[in-house]
Amino acid sequence: MSSPEQLKYATSDESDFQRMPEPKPGDWLFQFHESRQSFKEYVNSEPLQTTGQRKVMVFQPVGEFSEEERELVEKAITFASIWFDIPTRIENGLPLPEKGWQRIRQFPWQDKPVTQYRTDYFLNLLLPSRLPDDAVCYLAVTNGDLYPEESWNFVFGQATLSRGVGVYSIIRYFPKFWGEKESGSSQIITLRRICKVLTHEAGHMLGLGHCIDYLCNMNGSNSLEESDRRPLRLCPLCLKKLQWNRKFDVIERYEKLYTFFQENGLKEEEAWTASRLKKIKAVQ
Ligand SMILES: [Zn+2]
Ligand SMILES: [Zn+2]
Repeated sequence: MSSPEQLKYATSDESDFQRMPEPKPGDWLFQFHESRQSFKEYVNSEPLQTTGQRKVMVFQPVGEFSEEERELVEKAITFASIWFDIPTRIENGLPLPEKGWQRIRQFPWQDKPVTQYRTDYFLNLLLPSRLPDDAVCYLAVTNGDLYPEESWNFVFGQATLSRGVGVYSIIRYFPKFWGEKESGSSQIITLRRICKVLTHEAGHMLGLGHCIDYLCNMNGSNSLEESDRRPLRLCPLCLKKLQWNRKFDVIERYEKLYTFFQENGLKEEEAWTASRLKKIKAVQ
């Protein structure tokens, strides 16, 4: 159990966090001049919280997953349940939509054309019609590539906050999508990316805005390269918001995250969490 002093330290001490560097052309903050969502603003926004009835984060796989894809998505969902301290459930898989909701794209680095699926199929049709009674949010995870409207090349994911639904594609997190060779660390890189996107996007569902102060999982991102730069952890301010929402014990949560990182070969995160935990536990 954390003491009030330990909670205060974990949600205010900046020593283990890097300030956000000056944005460069192409970066999210270079393009979008976002302002900080303060803790007070977060609380006043009355963010989505679990209730007696709506208390599970429900995930909906869509598409035929390979063994590897299924395993990585299941691991990332387990990770999300630790991150948010919310029970999660995975619904039975559903097929991708047929004609009328898709288009074909040929990317220069791909030898075969890629089928893309329109996000409004998920956000306005599939998910709202099946929204489970106990879901605090209902998130589709697909291995199909997504696009929001004709003029866009693609999108990693999209959400309708008012309905508590969202759809996220994992296809671009695999090196093979980019025509790159698989290596020994490919699985770990992909797992890290899927963990990041699920917790970032579900964080938005719980009302967390983009973080502009530190390198943090709630940083906005314009590209895969920028997503790879944001760390799989919350800065003190974002952690303070999430802890207010969920009321978890910060030490217990970090201990469970540590075990997950250790068991899944996420070495950098394992080392960082061990050092952070040590400092929080040392607070009297
Ligand atoms: Zn975001
Ligand atoms: Zn943050």
